[in-house]
Amino acid sequence: MSMPMRQALTIGAYLMRQKLARREKFPLLVELEPLFACNLACAGCGKIQHPADELRKRMPVEQALAAMEECGAPMVSIAGGEPLMHPQIDEIVNRLVAKRKFVYLCTNAMLVRKRFDRFDFKPSPYFAFVVHVDGLKERHDESVSKEGVFDEAVEAIRFLKDKGFTVNTNSTFFSNDTPQNIIDVLNYLNDDLGVDSMQISPAYAYEKAPDQEHFPGVTETRELFSKAFGGGNRKRWRLNHSPLFLDFLEGKVDYGCTAWGIPSYSLFGWQKPCYLMSDGYASTYQELIETTEWEKYGRGKDPRCANCMAHCGYEPTAVLATMGSLKESLRAMVA
Ligand code: SF4
Ligand code: SF4
Repeated sequence: MSMPMRQALTIGAYLMRQKLARREKFPLLVELEPLFACNLACAGCGKIQHPADELRKRMPVEQALAAMEECGAPMVSIAGGEPLMHPQIDEIVNRLVAKRKFVYLCTNAMLVRKRFDRFDFKPSPYFAFVVHVDGLKERHDESVSKEGVFDEAVEAIRFLKDKGFTVNTNSTFFSNDTPQNIIDVLNYLNDDLGVDSMQISPAYAYEKAPDQEHFPGVTETRELFSKAFGGGNRKRWRLNHSPLFLDFLEGKVDYGCTAWGIPSYSLFGWQKPCYLMSDGYASTYQELIETTEWEKYGRGKDPRCANCMAHCGYEPTAVLATMGSLKESLRAMVA
């Protein structure tokens, strides 16, 4: 897992504390959605279909901080919508960083250069931008349903790297992607642009997404990733995932879902059971844990989970399996 040493040690110590406290369910990372509005309308997006009055709302800074404080997660991934449309997003980031949370700010990058001077972002070992890049120019622009977005994302990555920020990427792959598409874009991000690390995900079949045709099934996902990872690619790419999660993606192991490990907090509260599905909301993480019937979810249990191999459900399972095995812990350290 290409995670910086400081972060790996902090997360390791956090996991150890949970084990010693015999805490059964705890958050590893929170998907924080301080708004639903976005300046793009991607065909595979399941987040921007809310009514106009919901799309106008912005989460107050204090509310975001209180939720992160209550749950105690060591990492926060800020998504949306487009977080750079939140006028106080820099304050949310800076105050979480001041609390030594590892903060990832996910963005489609369209506003990075345009609005950079409005915000007070500072490079920090606790802070990384995560730029959405689903493919090379033609593929990415098709994925986000707008021309020119890939070029702007590339310029934004260069701009942020020049300013000393850690810049990661997040790529979602659909059934119309091929192993070669994946190889091409990850080679470009890894070798040409030199991003710090890359996150990958098979697309989840959001019920509300306009494009319902291109969500890959489990067999397709395994085939796609096992072919793309071949020829030493997996080892060479700076992928921001645990080795066991990558094994899971390419079908070498199978896991159950651990959705409580990467919960989602939005304008509506803590989403049950995960970032991808909403079966109601809880007002605190504790309430989410206590009132969600976790055993009902996961592949083979709920039909909406049937094609899911998303990191919010399965990366925590992989991390816990890593922690439970000396061999896997050593493998994660050297990966
Ligand atoms: S950039 Fe992200 S939030 Fe915005 S429409 Fe695309 S997938 Fe949805
Ligand atoms: S398998 Fe887990 S993470 Fe995936 S949709 Fe179902 S509950 Fe959510």
